Amino acid sequence: MKKDVVTEKMLSRRNFLKTAGEAAAVAGLATTGIPLMTGQAQAACDALPKKWDETYDVVVIGSGFAGLAAAIEAKNAGAKDVAVIEKMPVHGGNSIINGGDFGAPGTKLQKENGVEDSPELMLKDMLRAGMYLNHPELAKTVAYGAKDALEWTESYLGCKYAKLNFHGGHSVKRAHGTINQSGSEVVNKELAKAKEIGVKIQMRTKVVKFLSNKEGRIVGMEVRKGYKFPDDKSGKTAFVKARKAIVLGSGGFSYDVALRQIHDPRLTDKLGSTNHPGATGEALLAACQSGAMDVQMDWIQLGPWTSPDEKGFGYTPLFCEPLVGYGLMVNPKTGKRFFKETGNRKERADAILLLGNPAVIMGDSYAVNKQVVPHALKGGMGIGAIKKFDTLDDLAKAYDMPVDVFKEQVARWNSFVEKRQDDDLGCMIFKDAKPTVVAPFYAAKLWPKVHHTMGGLVIDKNAQVMGFDFKPVKGLYAAGEVTGGVHGAVRLGSVAMADCIVFGRIAGKNAAGEKNWS
Ligand code: ADP
Repeated sequence: MKKDVVTEKMLSRRNFLKTAGEAAAVAGLATTGIPLMTGQAQAACDALPKKWDETYDVVVIGSGFAGLAAAIEAKNAGAKDVAVIEKMPVHGGNSIINGGDFGAPGTKLQKENGVEDSPELMLKDMLRAGMYLNHPELAKTVAYGAKDALEWTESYLGCKYAKLNFHGGHSVKRAHGTINQSGSEVVNKELAKAKEIGVKIQMRTKVVKFLSNKEGRIVGMEVRKGYKFPDDKSGKTAFVKARKAIVLGSGGFSYDVALRQIHDPRLTDKLGSTNHPGATGEALLAACQSGAMDVQMDWIQLGPWTSPDEKGFGYTPLFCEPLVGYGLMVNPKTGKRFFKETGNRKERADAILLLGNPAVIMGDSYAVNKQVVPHALKGGMGIGAIKKFDTLDDLAKAYDMPVDVFKEQVARWNSFVEKRQDDDLGCMIFKDAKPTVVAPFYAAKLWPKVHHTMGGLVIDKNAQVMGFDFKPVKGLYAAGEVTGGVHGAVRLGSVAMADCIVFGRIAGKNAAGEKNWS
């Protein structure tokens, strides 16, 4: 672990407390004589402001899938004043740059495509991929609630889904691709609905600390208004009260190099991330400092479908993932396949890292035209991450592959496609897959990037945050990537949307159902 990273983090934690103290003085906080303490002990009590700057029934932190779903449901469940607090200048967090696949079982689109599925099967897939570390009740809530959540986005928000996709680790195709194959279809419609029903959206407002009363109930928070990411000194301190409850939907911490390295020292700043830059863990840590318990923080997912030839999430995941089960992934050093293309994210990312060099995913024109959305192909080719070749020889040469070995692998793969069975690696081959023969051929390099943090706050099936004393942290709910336990060791592709919408809705409803504390 890099020393400077740890030191920086520790310093910033100290600064956090110092800043909180200074802020308290500036705001003329009641001096109760109770010292500020770190960690769980602090849950006992904080010095509360004599005057709150703003008061709401329910305050939601984060404007992604989970936070916006919570805000809408809180409002619809009767909370009068609901606010969403977002630190960035733009809404949507990771959700808005998400690939737009919503995993749900037993839906109309699946039936239309002849796919048989059930919540039991989805749960089984989640638990198997999660290495049975998933908290079963949470995983079950998602698997059994996903269809209803998907239908809510369609019928209540007006979201449109066009296509059924597959993600490695699932038994069947159950990812419902939004019409623009982007999470923005859902986030933008959530935001529009939230505004329409009177939710107040506050941008550039960063939560720095939760405040608990004498009973240990979280009653509000300290924020920086007018915050300019990532300058912690920007903006002004203000105190926001939540009469009923707070819902934390602040997302994961894939972009927080210091925090991710504390939990997995291998994840240095040398590894890129698919996330938006605001995917940092300070709100999660603030909750822990107010007594919330965290879990499975070292299960951090690398996406196996990202490209070293473009920044962030990019276009390549939207090229690679639809091609698995239709095309081949090879090690350019040997020209051979090395791992089943339909394996789950962890299996594939680990296998690529073990190679020590980027892998190559490829497909022919039939597979690419059928599977890859045109804007992803065009975009990826535009920046050179996806390349087009007239012949297999040209493709092999471009990636420095042994041409004959590679062509022999393609022929072998084609024989597996003919009989729908991969004798070498056990890849799933879809019934509409065809041998890779139609020129031109397309290919992209693959090198993993930090994508999702499975760990986070412990919640129960009511989205109530649990404390280190195994009791609810009163007044605090959480949903989405900031929580832990739903996915265990591996989050399957397309289950993030289901998780966020299912638990966001639950959190919002339950937050609205709380009694006013004052
Ligand atoms: P999810 O997928 O769980 O809904 P997202 O990443 O889509 O998560 O959204 C989380 C949002 O929370 C992001 O827009 C992020 O900027 C915001 N956020 C994170 N930390 C804070 C914080 N300390 N204060 C306010 N907003 C925050």
